[in-house]
Amino acid sequence: MNKALDVIIVGTGAAGLFCALNLPEEMNILLVTKEAAEKSDSFLAQGGICVLQDASDYRGFLEDTMKAGRYKNNQALVNLMIRQSPEVIRDLIAYGVEFEQENGRFKFTREGAHSTARILFHKDTTGKEITGKLLAGVRSRPNITLLEHTTMIDLVRSRNRCKGIVTCNRDHQVVAYHARIIVLATGGVGGLFDNSTNYSHITGDAIAIALNHQISLQDLNCVQFHPTAFYREGKERRFLISESVRGEGAVLYNAKMERFVDELLPRDRLTEVILKQMEKDQRPFVWLSMKEIGREEIESHFPNIRRYCFEAGYDVMEECIPVVPAQHYHMGGIRVNSVGETSLEGIYAIGEASCNGVHGANRLASNSLLDALVFAKRCAGQIAKGSKVQAILEDRKMLGLQIDFSQLQREYKKIILEAMERMDGYEPFYSGYAE
Ligand SMILES: Cc1cc2nc3c(=O)[nH]c(=O)nc-3n(C[C@H](O)[C@H](O)[C@H](O)COP(=O)(O)OP(=O)(O)OC[C@H]3O[C@@H](n4cnc5c(N)ncnc54)[C@H](O)[C@@H]3O)c2cc1C
Repeated sequence: MNKALDVIIVGTGAAGLFCALNLPEEMNILLVTKEAAEKSDSFLAQGGICVLQDASDYRGFLEDTMKAGRYKNNQALVNLMIRQSPEVIRDLIAYGVEFEQENGRFKFTREGAHSTARILFHKDTTGKEITGKLLAGVRSRPNITLLEHTTMIDLVRSRNRCKGIVTCNRDHQVVAYHARIIVLATGGVGGLFDNSTNYSHITGDAIAIALNHQISLQDLNCVQFHPTAFYREGKERRFLISESVRGEGAVLYNAKMERFVDELLPRDRLTEVILKQMEKDQRPFVWLSMKEIGREEIESHFPNIRRYCFEAGYDVMEECIPVVPAQHYHMGGIRVNSVGETSLEGIYAIGEASCNGVHGANRLASNSLLDALVFAKRCAGQIAKGSKVQAILEDRKMLGLQIDFSQLQREYKKIILEAMERMDGYEPFYSGYAE
């Protein structure tokens, strides 16, 4: 790495990778990650990714997201996320991502708290399909250096600006890297919990570092539990039994093999009911039956879940499996605006590490990959714009030479208009937030 760095991105999940790919290829980018690049929660996503199929679903998508979030969501940003979902899906397809199709048309699935089927999926390994293709894209870019087994342990800060990161490598050596822009994409906090579906190395490091540097945080108390993770003794990462399994018809039974709940309740409500039932039953799990889905659908839609359960001693075609609620997603995080800017200059946050308010108090299933991708792209756009202005201003050094002022003015105009849009309560007369 002889050239000076323009941007450092911490984390190789969907958010970090997509941000890197959306930055201009002239920028020299360093991507660092704590483990091997494939070890991110993004790789684990099973259910899928939400998309606005057509304008008629806009209200339903918005309402489902707001209702799941107990109406504590930032509605303007939910609107943005929904509107930009088709664009992001088109981008993914351009990177070679394949979604399930039927008769030449996309097949959509449904999960808990969705009023309609609007989730694109790739078998039950959607995260691997998306993140794997993005990672391949990153590896092919000469302007991006990927540094694995490198943990960010602090920021390099000069007065009110972040100027780099301090890392610790595999040999426990402390190394600092400097850049004008830092993007935190370090994921959630699952590694802090005994029962979690997350990788255990994903421990909210960026939040601790932000706290140390008085960077603003938001909604740290909003932690989502997934109602159905595969139960087994011990403390290893809990294998997720995707919500779409229940969306496709799987049912829950108590110890007496009686149904005790509507399986499509929002996650937080379902989790509460299951925990109460476990207490009543005096057992650390309840039963989930997938037989109702049908053999053919299980084979085509859930091969990974079937394989995992089989290896654990259960044939989902024939018998129930034990499931338990487990920590799954963190709605809270580093407070950001619609382009990922934090309260400290020079530092951005995206994906699960950030909190832009789209999920409110509780995330709607399959909205998190979408959040990560939409706002990673917006963040990259913002960084690129900033650097354009920077490049034009470099011309100031050339006193006496001509500079293209109209070009600079165009960039400033975009910056001002976008800053206005980010103001709370901003509603221009000419359009409002009408659909
Ligand atoms: C089992 C499971 C299933 C899921 N299914 C779905 C689904 O179907 N649909 C959906 O929308 N969402 C799903 N989610 C949630 C979704 O996968 C995540 O919210 C999303 O992928 C987060 O992406 P991210 O890029 O923000 O973080 P991650 O993908 O978690 O990546 C974080 C990255 O940061 C790195 N990192 C962490 N700390 C440091 C540090 N100190 N220094 C350097 N690197 C660091 C990690 O190594 C990793 O590379 C699921 C989550 C899990 C766990």
